[in-house]
Amino acid sequence: MNLSVQILIALVLSVAVGLGVGPEGLPFINKWIAPIGTIFINFIKMMIVPVVFCSLIVGVTSLGGDSKKLGRISAKTIGLYLVTTAVAIILGFAVAGIIQPGQGLDIAGKVAPKVKEAPTFMQVLVNMVPTNPIDSMAKAQILPIIIFALFVGVGITQVAEKQSKLLMDFFDAAAEVCYKIIAIVMKFAPIGVFALLLPVVCKNGPKVLLPLLSVIMCVAIGCALQCILVYSTLASVGGGISPLKFFRGMSEAMALAFTTCSSAAALPVNMKNCQEKLGLSREVTSFVLPLGCTINMDGTALYMGVCTLFVANAFGVNLTSSDMMMVIFTGTLASIGTAGVPGAGLIMLAMVLQAVQLPMEGLALVAGIDRVLDMFRTTVNITGDGAVCCVVDKSERKHQ
Ligand code: ASP
Repeated sequence: MNLSVQILIALVLSVAVGLGVGPEGLPFINKWIAPIGTIFINFIKMMIVPVVFCSLIVGVTSLGGDSKKLGRISAKTIGLYLVTTAVAIILGFAVAGIIQPGQGLDIAGKVAPKVKEAPTFMQVLVNMVPTNPIDSMAKAQILPIIIFALFVGVGITQVAEKQSKLLMDFFDAAAEVCYKIIAIVMKFAPIGVFALLLPVVCKNGPKVLLPLLSVIMCVAIGCALQCILVYSTLASVGGGISPLKFFRGMSEAMALAFTTCSSAAALPVNMKNCQEKLGLSREVTSFVLPLGCTINMDGTALYMGVCTLFVANAFGVNLTSSDMMMVIFTGTLASIGTAGVPGAGLIMLAMVLQAVQLPMEGLALVAGIDRVLDMFRTTVNITGDGAVCCVVDKSERKHQ
């Protein structure tokens, strides 16, 4: 049985068992089962820094110091990322505009949770440049690692061939080893997925979810539409890969994103599968995917669209069209600054709510169901990266 099917079975099983056991079983599950999920996810996380670092260097060096090509790939990637993100927010608005989540919701007595302050756009730019790359690696800060790896890669192409060949072979071999380790770890994915999902289902059983079901529905429907309309089109029209092949190839990474709520955790598997299952080049995947994992958060953007409308409805505030433009603008920026870790989107939502002067108490409403929303948005986040990667890969082949 192939791995995606096994993961799917684990997913269904965890929902069935979780609903059957309910919150009473939570202490036992937290003590004995949740740690197995944590161990699995630790193994995956263990590979994030090495795989991003090594394969990005391989990607840059394989461009052979061709800075024009690197510039071209960057421009295409970032352009596509911005467009898909803006489309996602608009889609979020559209779906929420139809379903109107939060109307008539009783919000009395809710208190806003403490959220960290969202970084400003300039702060995000400043933080991109690592003052100490080892420190950035230790903290698994992807964006500074990308910058460092880019420079190391460019540096390698600028030295004498004797030295550059040695380093290129070294990083190429190291990247290969990383992918092998990821393949070994992924063999245990069904067990990991089950152990990760079970506590979530037990804790957020149907009773807790029901009142906020309309928000969950909006995010889920919006995410499904983004995948079906936007990514299928990108993969097939722009990337020459049929939607079926695309989603099949993406399925393992999507399942991992859904269960871990972390784009960063799904990144190593995404990189491996985009190369092996979708046949995309290492040169493109190793640049486009790590970058996407940090700056391209379509699912998070969509969620911001839905949640601002939800909060506005819940508090009886009418959003004007200029408010909506503001949400699209700040939401796109906020999603760029969102880290690929669980719950990061909620922090950035604060920034968007603030931009249109919606009450921060709205965060309390969203916080209760954020984990469930996170599952959907993270899945879309990494699928969007894959779709853009297909387009960039195909267009780069034309230049060869
Ligand atoms: N959990 C999301 C991710 O890792 C970020 C977010 O919270 O929106 O992609």
